[in-house]
Amino acid sequence: EHDRIISADPRGEDADASLRPQSLDEFTGQAEARSNLKIFIEAAKGRGDALDHVLFVGPPGLGKTTLAQIMAKELGVNFRSTSGPVIAKAGDLAALLTNLEERDVLFIDEIHRLNPAVEEILYPAMEDYQLDLIIGEGPAARSVKIDLARFTLVAATTRLGLLTTPLRDRFGIPVRLNFYSVEELEDIVRRGARLLGLSMTDDGAQEIARRARGTPRIAGRLLRRVRDFAEVAKADSVTQKIADEALTRLSVDNRGLDQLDSRYLTMIAMNFGGGPVGVETIAAGLSEPRDAIEDIIEPYLIQQGLIQRTPRGRLLTANAWRHLGLDVPKDLAQ
Ligand code: ADP
Repeated sequence: EHDRIISADPRGEDADASLRPQSLDEFTGQAEARSNLKIFIEAAKGRGDALDHVLFVGPPGLGKTTLAQIMAKELGVNFRSTSGPVIAKAGDLAALLTNLEERDVLFIDEIHRLNPAVEEILYPAMEDYQLDLIIGEGPAARSVKIDLARFTLVAATTRLGLLTTPLRDRFGIPVRLNFYSVEELEDIVRRGARLLGLSMTDDGAQEIARRARGTPRIAGRLLRRVRDFAEVAKADSVTQKIADEALTRLSVDNRGLDQLDSRYLTMIAMNFGGGPVGVETIAAGLSEPRDAIEDIIEPYLIQQGLIQRTPRGRLLTANAWRHLGLDVPKDLAQ
């Protein structure tokens, strides 16, 4: 299911970049995170010191990378970027760290996927701006300490629970990002349309926003697909009707759920009487990796009140049965 239109995987990252906000003021939504970051950035600049390490937590596509870039820009420092699975060896991370200049931002995406040997290197680097390396092997091995520039690590993860406690404890500024409201996504869609030179009515923007699964990356992707559709249909402006037709063709329903979301809900309803059912069973039934289910599909379904996580597994809510157009089971109906 890798051509899923509403997957929040960072595909088409180049296309994404053109819509990326460049400053905190241009960044829509996440009001609390934004105002906190603003204060911390100003304070760090005032002291002339590196900003404390920041950890962004939230589902894919909500703006973690974008905020990291904006922070470097507002701090007036270099932005270096990598990701957990890319750093294979301790030496790879050492090379990155020794190349940083004072107060630079190092962004590590998917930090929960760092290998443990690499993570060990990161602790003293974060805490004391020092690298502890073992050079050589056997009896000739010795440890050397290298001083690093005072840098800021900005890291991103989809779920806090995936991080080891010692790593989690080393971030002074944890920031949780939440799904965006329809109003916020409307602003993002309108801004995107402006940047793409696309004429759009307010209800057109709202239609896209309602179906973007609370996620700016998806809003941007849907916006592009709707633009293609409008061009072929020779429409002067993207109206609600045009947006609805385009998105219906893409099998995005009126709640922003796509085919995979629907398969998820339908499977629990039909095969498991609405649950509770374990996530491994769901993953097997959908032939999707467990991570994708927990990181991408479920957070939005939970936020929408369509499923509940219980100790015994996932449970459909009365809303989910209604959304599927099925009768609500008696024990759920009040
Ligand atoms: P994450 O790192 O959380 O997966 P990104 O920062 O890569 O998400 O954001 C994905 C895309 O969504 C960006 O390229 C950007 O165009 C858009 N985006 C994210 N947050 C916002 C926002 N608040 N306003 C406008 N566009 C946004």
